[in-house]
Amino acid sequence: MPSKKYAVVDKERCVACGACTKECPRDAIAVWRGCYAVVDKRICVGCGKCAGTCPAGCILTVDREVE
Ligand code: SF4
Ligand code: SF4
Repeated sequence: MPSKKYAVVDKERCVACGACTKECPRDAIAVWRGCYAVVDKRICVGCGKCAGTCPAGCILTVDREVE
């Protein structure tokens, strides 16, 4: 049963600091080529830890659509 939520990054505002990648318990978020963070939606459990640690406040947890 997948989680109901997952994280999304506003890549325009991400400063690629990597703080979120250290916080994620699932290794579901990574900084892509030093540009911005990307979430692997399949692994993310929507816990919000990354959002809580992001200094730019550019991560939101959103409802997963029923697939
Ligand atoms: S919401 Fe939780 S599992 Fe998903 S990327 Fe953020 S820290 Fe990782
Ligand atoms: S913590 Fe925020 S600003 Fe830093 S890499 Fe992650 S999403 Fe980007």
